[in-house]
Amino acid sequence: MEMKEPAGGTVRGYVLMSGGLDSRLAACVLREQGVAVTAISFTSPFFGADNARDAALRLGLPLVVEDFTEEILRLVEHPPHGFGSYLNPCIDCHTAMIRLAGRRAEQDGFQFVATGEVLNQRPMSQNRRSLDIVADGSGYRDWLIRPLSARLLPETEPERRGWIDRGRLLDLNGRSRKPQFALAERYGVTDYPESAGGCRLTEPNFSARMKDLRNHGCVSDVHAIEMLRYGRHFRLNSKVKVIVGRDEADNNKLERLARPRDALLDTLEVPGPIIVVTGPYNDDDLLLAAQLGVRHSDRKSGAVEVRIRTGGGECRVSVVGSPDEVVNRLRVC
Ligand code: SF4
Repeated sequence: MEMKEPAGGTVRGYVLMSGGLDSRLAACVLREQGVAVTAISFTSPFFGADNARDAALRLGLPLVVEDFTEEILRLVEHPPHGFGSYLNPCIDCHTAMIRLAGRRAEQDGFQFVATGEVLNQRPMSQNRRSLDIVADGSGYRDWLIRPLSARLLPETEPERRGWIDRGRLLDLNGRSRKPQFALAERYGVTDYPESAGGCRLTEPNFSARMKDLRNHGCVSDVHAIEMLRYGRHFRLNSKVKVIVGRDEADNNKLERLARPRDALLDTLEVPGPIIVVTGPYNDDDLLLAAQLGVRHSDRKSGAVEVRIRTGGGECRVSVVGSPDEVVNRLRVC
């Protein structure tokens, strides 16, 4: 790879913008030395670009948002460097984001890619070895700048060529956030989120549900992933799932997300959840779904009438709620 000489004397680059404090500061440090910074952010079923949009707006930066769905689904299926604490393939995810940003930088005639990473801030994903793996794996090692810790890392090509002044980059190291808070004050960066966060793959419950999809060969089913955000999830067999709304907001979402081939159930005599059955269900599955629904309705004992709507029409059954043993056995998390 080779980035082009700066056009018109202006050095340009992409800063990976999560919207957290560190990526905002990385942009500020570079911009302070006259570099033209464009923010780049990625979206997928697991994370969005809202924090990045907010950051770009507040900092007055142009922002590019790229769809990262295909890459992240591939990495959740086969992460070459494994997962973090949950189903988060952070090292490979970061590598892929930098690779995409690097390609785009080359195409756009930019001179570098930068991130807000801080050496040793996170024990697993930001130690020296992980930073090296990411830099090498991205294919853009010589063009990747980490402005907050750059002086502790090998010199990059834009620094060697004098496009970026290494002396004005920083040497932050470790877990303390005090230097970042001081920088935030200096640059007038306020109202940033506590952590860039927002990646559902690092949430224990979501991650366990996603793991269940992965175990059943459904990693690339974007609609099934969207459903993971709502309700209680039960697995009846390798292909059939039941999702039971927890509250009105869940019920509304599930009703909207249900596809024509899904079965939709609701309790008729007492307030209760919306129940969605996905997959090639049979009559026994629908009966079990109705029992799970009654179990989570306001009726604590006795039978309740449940309406079952499928592509083939509508029927009603009267059932009692599932016993705890069944609920616990089928529950995904
Ligand atoms: S937390 Fe999520 S978005 Fe961030 S690097 Fe890890 S997998 Fe990717």
